[in-house]
Amino acid sequence: MADFDLIVIGGGPGGYVAAIRAAQLGLNVACAEKRDALGGTCLNVGCIPSKALLHASELYEEAAHGDYAKFGIELGEVRLDLKRMLFEKDKAVKELTGGIDFLFRKNKVTWLKGEARFLDPHSVEVAGETHRASNILIATGSEVAFPPGLAPDGEVVVTSTEALAFDRVPGHLVVVGGGYIGLEMGSVWRRLGAKVTVVEYMPTIVPAMDAEIAAEFAKILMKQGLVLKTGTRVTAIARNGDMADVTVEPAAGGPAATIAADRVLLSVGRRPNTDGLGLDKAGLATNARGQIEVDRQFRTEVPHIRAVGDVIPGPMLAHKAMDEGHAAAEWIAGRSGHVNPDVIPAVVYTMPEAASVGLTESEARAAGHEVRVGKFPFLANSRAKTNRDTAGFVKIVADAASDRVLGVHILGRLAGTMIAQAAQAMEFGASSEDIALTCHAHPTHAEAMKEAALAVRGPAVHI
Ligand code: FAD
Ligand code: NAD
Repeated sequence: MADFDLIVIGGGPGGYVAAIRAAQLGLNVACAEKRDALGGTCLNVGCIPSKALLHASELYEEAAHGDYAKFGIELGEVRLDLKRMLFEKDKAVKELTGGIDFLFRKNKVTWLKGEARFLDPHSVEVAGETHRASNILIATGSEVAFPPGLAPDGEVVVTSTEALAFDRVPGHLVVVGGGYIGLEMGSVWRRLGAKVTVVEYMPTIVPAMDAEIAAEFAKILMKQGLVLKTGTRVTAIARNGDMADVTVEPAAGGPAATIAADRVLLSVGRRPNTDGLGLDKAGLATNARGQIEVDRQFRTEVPHIRAVGDVIPGPMLAHKAMDEGHAAAEWIAGRSGHVNPDVIPAVVYTMPEAASVGLTESEARAAGHEVRVGKFPFLANSRAKTNRDTAGFVKIVADAASDRVLGVHILGRLAGTMIAQAAQAMEFGASSEDIALTCHAHPTHAEAMKEAALAVRGPAVHI
């Protein structure tokens, strides 16, 4: 006899959404979570606290460095109260994680507090008790990965978790890895007054991004004061009292140099987390990248055990985990779930934001498409001009023959919000003409999307 129809292991975006959805569909559900709060990496030490600090640090920078003054708003002396800023971030985290607790109670999901491990394919042990279930969903997420030979010490050499809570602004923050975390957390501490150097191994920052967007993005971030050392690798980090010496050398080989840092943030990616889970007891193994392989219904090779989120292949993003959790719950309840892996937006929440969905121009060409590209700069968008905030552009990549939109890439203040329109259009199989013929409200940043779509087949109007 099973105690539950479904046990979910992990209460992050993948796990908690699956648990709530399955309960809504009438299943008797438990969710094992070892943290003191629900919400996983995203709510506790990821998406939410980082966005809280990005928002607060942006307000500080605008106040301290003249954006308000430009519009005739004089503020007097602007002072940073970092303790208060961190308090407000923690408050947002608490409210949101508490919100998941509320939703669990509302939907009668049992929270099994503690670390779960498989005893056999139908049973898990949590806090010394055995629980059996007809279905099990693994949503154990990911952990920070370290470059070979470079490990954090939690004080000077740190991960994103500590960088979300520095008790003072570092003099010089060296960031290893110019991806999502490096650019977001680098931006936060630069805005608050740190010198920030980002060391990125690849020739461009956020290497998966469309090349034109990445190039313009790098220019803007450097203008803001971030020092970007691309094509550079960190070979050693030596603790030197309460500082560290970071040894770097060109990725292509060449003379080494040393950078003195007050803090070093390691942000070179994350790895799937299956530590201590006892996968072998369930008859499961991971692939070469440590991920659990699943089919389109999120079934592992043991079909009543499914997996979603950062622990399976694909981008490590909260909304991907949530959609997969939702879909997996639908399948478990005997319905059909849907996630289109080709249309998962990605956003770097810097200022400007960088957002994309679908194929980059070079990926589209490599996939054999003849492409047409339409671009439109915010410099020619009336709302962006009115707001005196014209950085960035919209780029649409469409198939030349069918005009179907293959990818959309946006650099701009509202890119993260605007990309939803592009994802929806692509999900509906839109052509660039469909977007161009859709009436967009004026004056809005979204009109840049319509103009970029017009530019795919003919001239845009306002340029
Ligand atoms: P997780 O959120 O990692 O949750 C897994 C949970 O399982 C954890 O709470 C863990 O404690 C628990 N667990 C693990 N093993 C066990 C076990 N054996 N028993 C019980 N519990 C267990 N993504 C975005 O889309 N947007 C962002 O803005 C964004 N910002 C980020 C900022 C930072 C600094 C970081 C680190 C990540 C960010 N991410 C962001 C990524 C996002 O956090 C992850 O993609 C997302 O949390 C993955 O969800 P998940 O449910 O798969 O796993
Ligand atoms: P990332 O994969 O985004 O970036 C890591 C970067 O480090 C890459 O550009 C890589 O080329 C570089 N790198 C790898 N080894 C290196 C080395 N030895 N020296 C220098 N550079 C090196 O990883 P991340 O920034 O650590 O973030 C982890 C994951 O968390 C991301 O993949 C993302 O999925 C998620 N995340 C998402 C958001 C968001 O959605 N806004 C924000 C933060 C984190």
